[in-house]
Amino acid sequence: MTKITIAKGDGIGPEIMDATLKIIMAAGAQIEIDEIEVGEKVYLSGNTSGISKESWDIIRKNKVFLKAPITTPQGGGYKSLNVTTRKFLGLYSNVRPCMSLSPYIKTKHPKMDVVIIRENEEDLYGGIEHQQTDEVVQCLKLISRPGCEKIVRYAFEYARQYERKKVTCFTKDNIMKQTDGLFHQVFDEIAKEYPDIENEHWIIDIGAAKLADSPEVFDVIVTLNLYGDIISDVAAQIAGSVGLAGSSNIGEECAMFEAIHGSAPRRAGQNLANPSGLLQGAVLMLNHIGQSDVASKVQNAWLKTIEDGIHTYDIYDETNSHKKVGTSEFAEAVIANLNQLPQKLKVVNYESNKVLQLPKYVRKAPAVKEIVGVDLFVHWSGEEAETLAVKMKLLKHESMQLSMITNRGIKVWPEGFRETFCTDHWRCRFKPAEGKQMKNTDIIQLLMRAADQQIDIIKTENLYTFDGKPGFSLGQGQ
Ligand code: NAD
Repeated sequence: MTKITIAKGDGIGPEIMDATLKIIMAAGAQIEIDEIEVGEKVYLSGNTSGISKESWDIIRKNKVFLKAPITTPQGGGYKSLNVTTRKFLGLYSNVRPCMSLSPYIKTKHPKMDVVIIRENEEDLYGGIEHQQTDEVVQCLKLISRPGCEKIVRYAFEYARQYERKKVTCFTKDNIMKQTDGLFHQVFDEIAKEYPDIENEHWIIDIGAAKLADSPEVFDVIVTLNLYGDIISDVAAQIAGSVGLAGSSNIGEECAMFEAIHGSAPRRAGQNLANPSGLLQGAVLMLNHIGQSDVASKVQNAWLKTIEDGIHTYDIYDETNSHKKVGTSEFAEAVIANLNQLPQKLKVVNYESNKVLQLPKYVRKAPAVKEIVGVDLFVHWSGEEAETLAVKMKLLKHESMQLSMITNRGIKVWPEGFRETFCTDHWRCRFKPAEGKQMKNTDIIQLLMRAADQQIDIIKTENLYTFDGKPGFSLGQGQ
């Protein structure tokens, strides 16, 4: 018996949760349920996080959370409960299977069967943003080695568990050589540990285009948070309907399972909604808690029901459907099909699956880290880089000299192009002068001299080498 936490959420949430629980209980799920309240009511009671402390305690105690969609009120500083839950509980892996159910559900891609595994905690989703000048704002993209190792290893373990043949990595490391470069590098390292599984890397833009055009060439895709967010919606949509997909959010200790759609408030309370997305989340949950026999039973009964043409309004069409049903009738039909197998769609059998056990991240020995320069970012409303270079040279440091100025990443000094558009946000790179060694305190001296000269330094970034390898990008055009 596994104790799980559920939240019925808002809009269509309560109806699809009731239908889902009814089906999995009828299939013999060995679960005990703790229910908590999250979402709209909690938000509107003045709690901007949408969840109480007591509810957190229950989620953390039970560790497995099945969540129906919630409504996040617009404006008013309400925080997305999904993002908070993922980050608080360290749910680093977002898994979304996207499989077409042709010919029963219309799709242009009848052979599609892709699983998107998205890194769930890092990347631009740290939401660390700053306005630095009149014209420029920034968002920090943070990628860590543990973050990359955990998600890439999860993807390969998942592939092995579900007898998948290939894992494809999507990045943009031709441009982001440090951040996406690390993800790709870790992918290559870990892929070597799984010689039984094919591996490949695609640049995200052409990869996404290929996924939208010929998804059948992909199997498991692992990618960074933002790319994964976008391509997993595309993948679910082209498989047939976002209303049919579920997802899991897996951490080292806790896990959360859900439908990928929202709370569809206009459909609420009318017994109209399709419970399939949340049911798919529940199937992922049953596999996660080691009840794979029940998961197989539910999935086969669900596939049979889709095949029988018993469809809710959102997937109903005159050619493929036989009967339009409401939420509770759909659940009854799935229950009546428990112990039956689909005839044309592929029968699933998860029964040999073991609960995925991933090793804990082991921190590597630190590299030899040496400081080799500093980028001073300057808010300056002038136009000529040459003029700024003259100002920066007034800092007259004994061991540091100006080596380059860039604007939005492109080199504008020395030898910039007159055509390059410049904003008021300049990066001035200082490196040790010929034959000089740099110290951290040199940066402080540069900053003090800049303050004396009334140069507005809005931030600094230190330049390091790690075991002799540069840990920073060159200026574009350098
Ligand atoms: P939505 O997914 O709720 O609805 C989009 C469209 O799909 C609507 O036409 C809706 O009627 C239909 N639809 C969605 N699920 C369906 C189902 N199970 N059966 C039949 N039809 C279904 O997206 P939205 O309208 O952009 O968002 C509504 C609310 O949901 C917002 O408050 C949003 O913040 C929230 N939301 C929550 C989650 C979550 O909790 N995980 C995810 C997305 C959106």
